[in-house]
Amino acid sequence: MLMTPHAYLDSIRQRGITVWFRGEKLANPVDHPVTFPAANCVAETYRMALDPGTQGLMTAPSHLTGERINVSNILWRSRDDLLRRIEWERAVARRTARGALRSPGLDALNALAIITKRIDRERGTDYRTRLDHFLRETHEHDWALSGAMTDPRGDRTKSPSQQIDPDLYLRVVERRRDGVVLRGAKAHQTSAPHAHWHLVLPMGCRSGEEDWAIAAAVPSNAPGLYHIYSRQPGDDRRVEGSEIDVGLAAFGGCESLLVFDDVFVPPERIFLNGETTATRDLVHYFGSFHRHCYGGCKVGIADVLIGAAASIADMHGVLERPIIQDKLTEMVHLAETMYACAVAASARGEPVEDVWIPNLALANVTKLNVTRFPFEIARLAADLAGGAMTTLPSERDLRHPELGKVVRKFMSTRSGIDPEDRMRILRLLEYLTHGMGSTYFLHESLHGAGAPEAMRIMLRKEIDLAPHIAAARALAGIER
Ligand SMILES: Cc1cc2nc3c(=O)[nH]c(=O)nc-3n(C[C@H](O)[C@H](O)[C@H](O)COP(=O)(O)OP(=O)(O)OC[C@H]3O[C@@H](n4cnc5c(N)ncnc54)[C@H](O)[C@@H]3O)c2cc1C
Repeated sequence: MLMTPHAYLDSIRQRGITVWFRGEKLANPVDHPVTFPAANCVAETYRMALDPGTQGLMTAPSHLTGERINVSNILWRSRDDLLRRIEWERAVARRTARGALRSPGLDALNALAIITKRIDRERGTDYRTRLDHFLRETHEHDWALSGAMTDPRGDRTKSPSQQIDPDLYLRVVERRRDGVVLRGAKAHQTSAPHAHWHLVLPMGCRSGEEDWAIAAAVPSNAPGLYHIYSRQPGDDRRVEGSEIDVGLAAFGGCESLLVFDDVFVPPERIFLNGETTATRDLVHYFGSFHRHCYGGCKVGIADVLIGAAASIADMHGVLERPIIQDKLTEMVHLAETMYACAVAASARGEPVEDVWIPNLALANVTKLNVTRFPFEIARLAADLAGGAMTTLPSERDLRHPELGKVVRKFMSTRSGIDPEDRMRILRLLEYLTHGMGSTYFLHESLHGAGAPEAMRIMLRKEIDLAPHIAAARALAGIER
């Protein structure tokens, strides 16, 4: 059953989620000037699933209940599901200048579906049955899930059991007859303060690190669970209440440090418990699925930035100049290259167990481009914006009874352009290139789903150079 955006926001308000924000506990994670745009952004995925204009894109039949559900919670059953994913990720991002909000949860579900089926076959466990029960409930309730894999990780050269503090990777500290107790944290958790459940996944573990090899579904109101909400550049402006100065008032994003202070999990919510050999594949699938989606969501943000850059050029009277058109064309080329890789990864998708997955090599190529191209797109946007993007007076100056006239006079450009509109576009450009939104367009593009080296490692694993070498040797006339 699809939830309305209002019902979704109310469900998060009433869920009793513990969120700390700048040293204070919030009454709820929705009704604060900084948190509301992020919550509203998740709500947009609910809104788009009900909007007749986007419902076809944003919903699909549940293979468990037969009802139409949000695409954020489906198991991919066909190549078309993978192709469509890139379209809806781009559509959500174009509408919100954010994206991938519920995507870590979606990727966690699909990665777990494969891994649990595999382990059950090998070891006679019943993890997939448990996951299917959870999935059915998720479909019935239209829950928002977070996908929580990244541990704080301490010394990056050491594995979980070698850290100075064993809690630097989330772990089982107690095994009881009625379940397990988890201690530690997950870092950088996208939209986690606005999720109903967290899908917790382990990072790579070795033999002897069974306590760290834990995957589970944890309700966001579980006793012992709390968030420390991230700061973002310029988030204070939301508290000031200025609509123009924030750059984007309606939507935003958020991450948190999700702390597990001895959180109990019953067996029916556990999907991996000590099977260290499965953790590496889980990391590869989850990481690669998430990298694939960036070819949709980051392109949607690029669309907005290109639109803003074209608008400011138009306001400055230079839009039709060839040099400006060249720069805009370069931005479009970079954006569509990211998109093309993701579409290709979908088109070359294949079934693994009962889930369709994107081509892993191309999914990683997609994300490797995403670690670079948004920075160049942002550089070109800043070039087209001019210095005013970084030196603009405030909205208060604009509204001031005396200064306002001066601001309007000197912010004027050509005939027919309202100086206030120019200020709005410049603030949006600032938001996306070095304000709150740059967290997503630039820095999540770089690190989300893994730092660039993670993609290169996957490419080395996925791409066999032997046929390339054979082709070269044959053409060079080398026989063996
Ligand atoms: C905005 C945002 C949202 C995110 N959302 C989620 C989410 O929803 N769920 C989730 O699970 N995670 C999430 N992440 C986490 C993301 O997956 C990690 O940031 C990413 O995997 C990189 O890990 P790290 O931040 O610890 O950086 P590091 O791994 O410390 O990387 C920093 C640098 O060190 C290098 N490095 C690391 N280890 C080694 C080594 N052993 N040898 C040599 N070099 C090394 C890296 O290549 C990189 O250049 C999010 C991150 C961001 C920024």
